[in-house]
Amino acid sequence: MPSKQWTLLYTAQSYEEAKDLAKSRFNVCQNRRSDLNDPTKYSFKCSEHRKYPLCHFQIKIIVPDNNVNSITIMSKTEHEQNERNATTRLPSPIRESISTYGKCGLSQSQIKASLIINYPQSPIDQVKLSNKIVYERRRDRPEIFSVYDLRNWCSQHQEGERLHSTFVPFYTVDDINNLFIFFTTK
Ligand SMILES: [Zn+2]
Repeated sequence: MPSKQWTLLYTAQSYEEAKDLAKSRFNVCQNRRSDLNDPTKYSFKCSEHRKYPLCHFQIKIIVPDNNVNSITIMSKTEHEQNERNATTRLPSPIRESISTYGKCGLSQSQIKASLIINYPQSPIDQVKLSNKIVYERRRDRPEIFSVYDLRNWCSQHQEGERLHSTFVPFYTVDDINNLFIFFTTK
């Protein structure tokens, strides 16, 4: 069992030293600072707390007001990274359906409409849906253009170089489901 008590890890000469040590060795990021009381306490939490919300690993750096060169670094519990945050992903039947619909060539709005019919009880998070569709499209077609590439290509082809060459006098590229590209020739 990881300890639920604070354990002394190191002592340091300065807060900067202590902070660098905590960040480099223990994969933590700054959480909060409480300086209302002596000593000043800085707490750090797991850098991956979004991905692993069950991880309660903490680091505390204690800086006594009367001795700022005598700093202690303490930790509590251990990194717990076995359990992913279930809420960061869509439920797996929905993920599988997105994958299937994507392979059938449905657009994002068509996929969303199908999911609403097939999973009326499940709210479909728009961002998660987009991420999953992008992931599926890239997985099957690693050569796929990014929106960034497409925009660059359009801006590089705004002038037709030769007679009869294709050019793009006007375009708008927001994302894969929201784009308009006007190709024409001279
Ligand atoms: Zn952790």
